Amino acid sequence: MRSRIASFYAILLVCVIAVVAIVLTVQLRSILLDEARAKIDRVGTDIGQVVRGNSLGAIGDPLTIQAELTATGSLDHWSSPTSFVEIDAPNGYPEGKSTNMGGATFEPTTASRSQAVQYRIEQRPSLGAVLVRDEFVQSSGVALIVKVGESLAIYDQTLQRIRVLLAIVVVLAVAFVIAGSFAVASSALEPIARLGAAMGEIRSDRLSRRLGWSERGDELGTLAQSFDAMLDRLEDGFARERQFISDASHELKTPLTVINANAQMLERWADRNPEVRAESLRAIREESASLAVMVNGMLLLAKAESGDDDIPREPLALDGVVADAVRGALPRAEEKHLALTFSPAERNGAGGPLVRGDAHLLRQLFTNLIDNAIKFTEAGAVSVAVSVDAGIAFVTVVDTGTGIDDESLGRIFDRFYRGDASRNRAIAGTGLGLAIVRSIARVHAGSVTVARCPAGGSAFTVTLPTFTSPS
Ligand code: ADP
Repeated sequence: MRSRIASFYAILLVCVIAVVAIVLTVQLRSILLDEARAKIDRVGTDIGQVVRGNSLGAIGDPLTIQAELTATGSLDHWSSPTSFVEIDAPNGYPEGKSTNMGGATFEPTTASRSQAVQYRIEQRPSLGAVLVRDEFVQSSGVALIVKVGESLAIYDQTLQRIRVLLAIVVVLAVAFVIAGSFAVASSALEPIARLGAAMGEIRSDRLSRRLGWSERGDELGTLAQSFDAMLDRLEDGFARERQFISDASHELKTPLTVINANAQMLERWADRNPEVRAESLRAIREESASLAVMVNGMLLLAKAESGDDDIPREPLALDGVVADAVRGALPRAEEKHLALTFSPAERNGAGGPLVRGDAHLLRQLFTNLIDNAIKFTEAGAVSVAVSVDAGIAFVTVVDTGTGIDDESLGRIFDRFYRGDASRNRAIAGTGLGLAIVRSIARVHAGSVTVARCPAGGSAFTVTLPTFTSPS
């Protein structure tokens, strides 16, 4: 990780410096060439004026001017250690040059061309690279090619020196960046390594440990806080699992003990006492049936609690799902001579609410509520209604039964909780029905609440978010 960060920055820096170096060199070269060009322009123009007789007013005669200019040493007036001057005949023959050119001459050019002034870079054996300006100058009776050259050696040297300087800067910068990135990456990654080690030490049996980096105000502090929050949730989840297993074992123990005791009775008395045999068989059948109901309830609860991702999200007409549950409960209501009524939200042709979810789970939710209402009502009615308000569907199950005492009111949704009245009166149940109702409501982004009816009985209200069909 460290070397990757360091090499990334080193490569980035080299690229940046390379781009800067290229731009700088190109710019500098053009500035230096402009400067050399301005210099030879000045000299060239000056000689041109002389040829045209403007500066040598006294001499005046063109032929005399030509002779003067081409005489040995006379062009030295315009030359300098880096500037060279040469005068050629129109056919390209060199007629005179500054003495600093020694035996060298510029490349021959002739006067037959479209432009009077031309520039080019020439590579001359003893002069090196030279920027040459040649101008065809014609004045009454005189025709000359005036060539002025500026040695580019000094400019090339300057560029070369800048290139060397840039290379040194690149090497130093890369070394500095690699060392710096290593140092910064090390100090930045060190807390991550510590975080990793701390995370590695946390196992399922040590979930109470926390990183406690809340004082760190940076991203790692936030990460550690999220990790601690995740541990809180995990610890809570594990605690709930443990509680569930202990509650479930406790609840399963009672029917198992009864089955075991009755099996022993059968072993001992079955041959001799037919009454005991019949009673024991009945007890075993009832307890195993209630065991099956409880195990089913636990499986359903596990499914409902497994989370939002696992359940299907089909579009469902809520009226239809509730009507199914009501229809299924009708025989049990009739058995107890209770009126079971259903009032759907869809009336006078107006469409009922649509919800997204698992039809089987939602039907189970309403069945549990309606079954409880029937179970805890001896006389009167159970009424079920669906309504909608501001995008929320409400399903109410109201009964005229025993009602729920204050103590139970806050606990009836807990797993395995059964009110005293139901235990004492030996009303069948597992204490899982309402826990299942709450879990199913939650995974459908809904809720369930209970209230005591002033006239006696209880009212359960389930809320579910609705959606509008695109069609
Ligand atoms: P179970 O019905 O199997 O006992 P539930 O979780 O369905 O378990 O209900 C928990 C407790 O809540 C019941 O034992 C009962 O005391 C109380 N309860 C539930 N529904 C009603 C109701 N409609 N009227 C009165 N009490 C109820």
